[in-house]
Order: sequence, then structure tokens, then C-alpha cells
Amino acid sequence: MTVPGSRRDPGPRICLAVLPTPLVRARRLERVLGCGPIYVKRDDLSGFGVSGNKARPLEFLIGDALAQGADVLVAGGAPSSNFCAAAALAARTVGLDCDLIFAGPPPTTPSVNVELARAAGARLCFDVVATREELDAAVVAHAESLRSLGRRPYAVPRGGATAVGAAGFACAAKELAEQCEAIGITPEVVVVATGSGGTQAGLVAGQVGFALPWRVVGASVSRPADTMSGLILRLSQDCADGLGLTRPAVADVDVCDLVGPGFGIASTEDRLSARLALQHEGLLLDDYYGAKAMTMLRGLLETACPTPVVFWHTGGVSAALTTLTRGAPT
Ligand SMILES: *Cc1c(COP(=O)(O)O)cnc(C)c1O
Repeated sequence: MTVPGSRRDPGPRICLAVLPTPLVRARRLERVLGCGPIYVKRDDLSGFGVSGNKARPLEFLIGDALAQGADVLVAGGAPSSNFCAAAALAARTVGLDCDLIFAGPPPTTPSVNVELARAAGARLCFDVVATREELDAAVVAHAESLRSLGRRPYAVPRGGATAVGAAGFACAAKELAEQCEAIGITPEVVVVATGSGGTQAGLVAGQVGFALPWRVVGASVSRPADTMSGLILRLSQDCADGLGLTRPAVADVDVCDLVGPGFGIASTEDRLSARLALQHEGLLLDDYYGAKAMTMLRGLLETACPTPVVFWHTGGVSAALTTLTRGAPT
């Protein structure tokens, strides 16, 4: 498949998501926030399991794995990882095995994403390493041990954040541009939650590469903003290189620190953000990502951020529902 406007084929892709995801105006939220037009890009409705934004990178990662003749996908994360659950589902739909490496012991209370991965048929490996920081190396080591047993593993770092995966979001930037053109709007700012950085990197590669008129601003939810901006810049440049697009520069990467009380822990403002989105628009935002991105959007609008803005709803349905039923996700 070729991305229109790019000079190079983005590589093999399988079909997981139902695209384009809807772009919907949030008039009731605009009224309570007293601001100009807000549009919501509904990647929570990406149509593959409850994968949200993760369906997009997995289309390219699984495509690449199949093209390389892999027979087992190896990924890792926290028990709460949306990526691990989505990867398990995606692997099984094309007949790949899936081994998942988790940091630490099995969760003591059932985790929706762990149980989804298990139900999909993934092999779950707990206690391989103690911390999230050690996961990427553990994924590579596990892949090597599989290779020595004669298997053909395809290793994916945390969050699927590779140049190959980010291509899914470069395509998504183009998809948004086409939707905006069809309804005659020109967004000023696109707001997105940033975890591993793959989503923002791909959106930036697409924004720069296709000369789209908006600024992408990421809400970093787990690591300091300066750490993330360096990672995102490199990843967006690798992604652009892979697609034959113009490389993003330092000034194209805009990250704000929204970690607050911690990854997956909502501040008072984050709770208000989630409540506003739910009660005025029927949008489910989770404590890991969506609520913090909405807090950032509210902050930007208070400092007279130009509109229209697009709020990229990345998903997080399983954590949002877990919080509602239990108080805090695992
Ligand atoms: C993974 C995820 C993100 C962040 O995407 P990254 O590519 O890891 O930065 C945002 N929101 C949700 C719901 C996610 O699952």
C-alpha cells in the first residue's frame, strides 16, 4: 500500500482497524469550556477489540512480521498495557503465536488487559524482569532464546514504538487531513496523549511530511517531557526516512509534562477532565492517557490556544471501565 504523497511504500500492512475513525465535533464541551471548535478524532472506535490507537501501529508491525516470515510475536509491558492485549489479539488473527513479557509478578487483582491477552491465546511470562525499564532488553533476550529453539520471532519494543509502527500514525495524519478538508475546517492544534511516543512520532512525521497546517502537542503521561521530546524526534525522523518524507526538526516536537501524581494516577484536574468528557459528550477517558490529554487541552484553551483544535481520543476503554467499577486500574 502506498501513502498518497509519500515517495516510498510504507511496507506491508494487514487490515485491523475500521478506517477512517470518526471525526466528531464536541459542541457541548465547547460550551462548558467557553472556547472555539473542538473536534474529537475517535480512535477509541478503531474497531479492533478494544485496542483504540494500537490497531494502527499493529497493522504495520504485523505486516512486517509476516513479511519477514515470523511465526511468533514477542512484546512486553506492564499488566495494564493496552499494547500487549492488542498485540495478542492481532497476532492470533493472522495465526502468529504471541509471547508477552511482563515486569514483576502476576497482578493480584484481575487485569482486563492481561485476561484479554490470555483469552486470545498469548503465552504470558511474568517475573522475567523487575522493572518496566528492563523490558525492551528482556523482549530481545526472549526472542533470541526462541530463535535458538528454531522459532522465527518478531520482537517489538514497549508500546510498539518503532519507525514501522509509527507509519500507522503518519497515515492517520493524512486521514485526518482528508476528513478536515471534506468538512471545510483547518485545525490549528492536534492534542494527543503520549506514552511510549510512537503515536506522536507518527503524527508529527505525517504532519511535517504532508505539510499539514496544524501543530501536534503531546501530553506526556509517564516520563518527563524533555526525555520524551528527544525520543519522539528520533522516532519521527526514522519514520519519515522509512516513508521517504521530509524529516521533522526539533521545533516540530511539542511535548508537555502531564505526569502529575504518576502514570495511571489521576490528579483532581484529570478527574474533572474525565467527568466533563463523560457527562457532556459521552466520551470515556482513562486515567493513564485520555484524562491527562484532556487536562492539557483545557490548560491550552485557558491560555488562548487558537481553535479549531482536534482532541485525538486514543482509546483506553478497558482502564476507564476498570476505574469506574473498582476505583483504580491495575
Ligand atoms: C498507548 C496509548 C497511548 C499512547 O500511545 P504511545 O504511542 O505509546 O505514545 C495513548 N492512549 C492510549 C489509550 C493508549 O493505549
